[in-house]
This record gives sequence, C-alpha cells and structure tokens, in this order.
Amino acid sequence: MLTNAPKGTKDMMPDQAYKWHYVEKAFAEICRLYGFKEIKTPVFEHTELFQRGVGDTTDIVQKEMYTFQDYGKRSITLRPEGTSPVVRSYIEHKLYAGVQPTKLYYNIPCFRYEKPQSGRLRAFHQFGIETFGTMDMMADAEIISLGNDFLKGMGITDIELRINSVGCPECREKHRAALREFLKPKYDELCDTCKDRYERNPMRILDCKSPICQELVAGAPMMLDYLCDDCSQAFEDLKTNLEAMGIEYTIDPGIVRGLDYYTKTAFEFVTNSIGAQGTVCGGGRYDHLVEEIGGPATPGVGFGLGKERLLLTMEACGVEIPKPAAADVFIVVMGEKAKAAGLKLMRQLRQEGIAVQMDIMGRNVKNQFKYANRIEAKKTVVIGEDELEKNQFAIKDMATSEQVTVPMEKIIEELKK
Ligand code: ATP
Ligand code: MG
Repeated sequence: MLTNAPKGTKDMMPDQAYKWHYVEKAFAEICRLYGFKEIKTPVFEHTELFQRGVGDTTDIVQKEMYTFQDYGKRSITLRPEGTSPVVRSYIEHKLYAGVQPTKLYYNIPCFRYEKPQSGRLRAFHQFGIETFGTMDMMADAEIISLGNDFLKGMGITDIELRINSVGCPECREKHRAALREFLKPKYDELCDTCKDRYERNPMRILDCKSPICQELVAGAPMMLDYLCDDCSQAFEDLKTNLEAMGIEYTIDPGIVRGLDYYTKTAFEFVTNSIGAQGTVCGGGRYDHLVEEIGGPATPGVGFGLGKERLLLTMEACGVEIPKPAAADVFIVVMGEKAKAAGLKLMRQLRQEGIAVQMDIMGRNVKNQFKYANRIEAKKTVVIGEDELEKNQFAIKDMATSEQVTVPMEKIIEELKK
C-alpha cells in the first residue's frame, strides 16, 4: 500500500510532463489571445461554498466530495470543480466593481470521489474559463469559440459541439411540472437517487447514468420546448453568433450538465475516440450563481475542460506532441583540469540559455559518451588535457556524427547556431 498511489489518482511522470506543458502553454496562449487572465484559488474551500454553488441535488455534493474537518473544526472540501471558487474569489475581491466583463481562466487540480475508469479519476485536472458581468450571447459564443479553437488547435479532429438551453428558473418550473407528470407512472422504477431527484430537481434525472433511468426518460418532455421568450431569443442569438463565427454545432436537447447552477446556454464538446467518458469540455451560463453565493446579481458563463481526457483524445487522434531534447549539449571531460574547464563552460552556456549537462557519476570517457547518447543530447563537447593545451575543442553532432573543431572563445557562438 505504501508504494501504491491512492485509487483513482495518477502520477504525472517525467516522460509525460512535456505533454502537459504543451497543452498548458497552448491553453494560456489562447486565453491571452481572447483576453482571459489567469486566476489561482486554493485547493480547498469551505464545504458550504460547494453545497451552495454546485447544488445540494448534484452527484458531486451528494456523494463525490472529499470533505473533512480541519483542526479548527471547520468543514473543508477539496475543490471538486473550478467555477464556485472563482465566483467566491470574484465576490471577495470585488471584481464586480471593476470594469466588466471580467474574463478569467484557470488550470487546476480537482477532486471527486468517483468510480475510477479511463478518463475518470478521483484526482484530475481541469482548464477552465469564466466571463462575468454580461447577459449578451456574444459572451457565450466567445466561450464556446475559445474551446473550439483550442481543441482544434490541439489537433483533435474527432470532436462534436453540442448545445442546448436549460432555460431560466421561470421556464424551468413549467418543464419541471411536465417532467414530473411524465415520470409519475414510472416513479417506482427509478433508481433511489432519481427518486430523490424527482422531488428536488427532476431535470437531473435526464442526466442519470443508470441504464434503467435512461430508458425511463426516453421521450420525456425537453427543456427546449418550454423556453420562455427571453430564453428562446437568447438561444437564437447564440446560434446566430456561432454561425457568424463559422462554428459547427448540433442541438442536443438532452444536455443537462452535472451542476445545478446552469441557466440558458449549456454545451459540451464530445468525442467518440476515448470510450464512454467522451465529454472533454462542458460548460454553460450561470446567471444566478454569483448572487447565490452572496455577491451582487451578476451573470456568468464558462466551461471546464478535463486535461486527462484532452490528452487521451489527442493520443487517440494520433497527435504527436514534440518531445523536447533532454540536453542541447553534453560536455565530456577527461581529467581534473578538464573538469574545471568544463564546469566553467557549463555555467556560461546555461547563462546563454543552452541546456547543458556534465557527468556527475564519475564515469569514464566511454561511458560519458554512452550516457550522452542515452539522454539524447544533441551535441557533445570534448575537453581533455590535449584540447586544453591546443585550445581546440571538438563539437560533435550526435545525430549526424559531424564534427567541428573550434577554440574555446568560439564554443558558445558555435553551439548557439
Ligand atoms: P461527466 O459527465 O463526464 O461526469 P461532468 O459533467 O461531471 O462530466 P464537469 O463537472 O462539467 O464534468 O467537468 C468538466 C470536465 O472535467 C469534463 O467535461 C471532463 O472533461 C472533466 N472531468 C470531470 N470529472 C472528471 C473526472 N472524474 N476525471 C477526469 N476528468 C473529469
Ligand atoms: Mg461527473
């Protein structure tokens, strides 16, 4: 047990790290292009924030949170999602008082006690973005467009954008009544969780993963047929904006999303390449969340994008992420004097931004070369007594075996080529 990571967690190993860095850099860059700025909130929050923010009727709050009491007897929860903490911070730091909209992005670990499977972990990672302060469907379209550009930019071909509207509290009430009516004769067959949802939030039954419940909701009344004029117009505006941007979508009236706070726009980017957990990115609008958490009434819209699922999808789509070389240069040294010269040169090269290594294992020359090969160093520089005396140093290109000989004062220049 001591040498096994907890169930549902995965180490990010050094030979995978470059892939993570690649997507992180790309995400930060696209956020910069769209004018989103980074925010970092703590890994844990007061439990109440998620009870309120995510919603009492959700799977997350009911059975997935890592909640514990700290030594000060406060109930603390490891962040299961990114939006509520960002909303908390938006209120706490009075960002609503500044110029709007506020556009934020994050790159965070999240924790949910779920049944681990491919693409579903207990400790996982999300990119996310949020826009606060506007009801305009330009914001929703911009959020979706950023997700679309990012996923396409990562080389993902097999992905589909699905959109829906989950309405507002007014129109949802009518839908809720119709849904209860529809499910009434099937009530006894619902799973225990859905029996509870029947009273509290029947729309969530549409999102139940149990095959029995999924069958029972076939043909159920859909939110799209119950939208009020305002929500209906908003959905039309969203579609118009997406079309103007040339973003393809399909309408999926079944999209409900796992969190209680969504209003109007709900969307997902779904792939068929990675099995059952195909939702790589999901998001929507939450016009009452800021108020619910204790801030002034402020609309918001955003998405969460699972990094593990993103990387699985990229792999499934055959995307090759360029692997950075471990070292630009390896300095092979022979003898004590050479070692001192090597250390000096290594320092200079690093200051020049060249990734350089030397042996720190007491290897002989043959093994130093072998090691340089193993770590895939691009070039080697050989320093021995002879070389020092003649002030001539061989730089070898490890891929082509080509060799040039230069004096010490030319080495940096030559290596920078
Ligand atoms: P799902 O329907 O797959 O359970 P969700 O609706 O719970 O997803 P969100 O809360 O919207 O997901 O989170 C946004 C994204 O985070 C998901 O689309 C997915 O890519 C990722 N994600 C969510 N839960 C997990 C998890 N347990 N492990 C890995 N990634 C996850
Ligand atoms: Mg989930």
